[in-house]
Amino acid sequence: MNGRDDRCNSTACSFEAMRRRMVEEQLRPRGIQDPRVLEAMAAVPREEFVPAALREEAYDDNPLPIGAGQTISQPFTVAFMCQALQLKGDEKVLEIGAGSGYGAAVLSKLASRILTVEYIPELAEEARRRLARLGYRNIEGREGDGSLGCPDEAPFDGIVVTAGACDLPLPYLEQLSEGGRLVIPLGSQYYGQTLYRFIRHQGRLGIENLGIFVFVPLLGRYGLEEVR
Ligand code: SAH
Repeated sequence: MNGRDDRCNSTACSFEAMRRRMVEEQLRPRGIQDPRVLEAMAAVPREEFVPAALREEAYDDNPLPIGAGQTISQPFTVAFMCQALQLKGDEKVLEIGAGSGYGAAVLSKLASRILTVEYIPELAEEARRRLARLGYRNIEGREGDGSLGCPDEAPFDGIVVTAGACDLPLPYLEQLSEGGRLVIPLGSQYYGQTLYRFIRHQGRLGIENLGIFVFVPLLGRYGLEEVR
């Protein structure tokens, strides 16, 4: 019987193998330890979120272009931000910068409801269609200026911003629940950004520096001055 071989003689299977390798080589050794995050990263078919011509590169250790001058974040960055949100499963999460929809797909496995906002209309539409086609039912995709957060749906237990701002947009703090986590890159587009985690706790705000990363600039009202 070689049923296993039959099943594995497919592109889907080789993508699955690439996904496993990504987890073992790019994520685990660099400090991604949350088992739920590792499982989510091993489950979401990243090849479905990149342009057709780049499918074979979907699991490479870098960001990839998705059109409109934007990128799908590097797998490690997605996993790191998801881990930083410290999700247990019952949270409502706001993602700013849907891009391809990949980050939202990973988050959908870690929390109960995801709202993802994208500024560029064609990306917003494409991400919405893709997430619906792939069957992600707990994600709502919206088009708009996510630098304002999403006041009509606040508060959120987690807010993750996948593009860098210079100053912290205040709406995010206002829209964070008690105990909620905000993960956001802040800094200059040219000199690099530092990823921060803000935790709201009994009227106080805890701040942690999570390291240096490179992100595309946050557009919109509270976005990077250089590109406003
Ligand atoms: N999470 C995405 C990463 C995309 S890169 C993924 O997994 O593919 C960051 C995205 O943020 C880009 O698509 C960019 O258009 C978007 N963006 C930038 N400024 C924004 C804003 N003010 N509101 C919403 N989206 C924004």
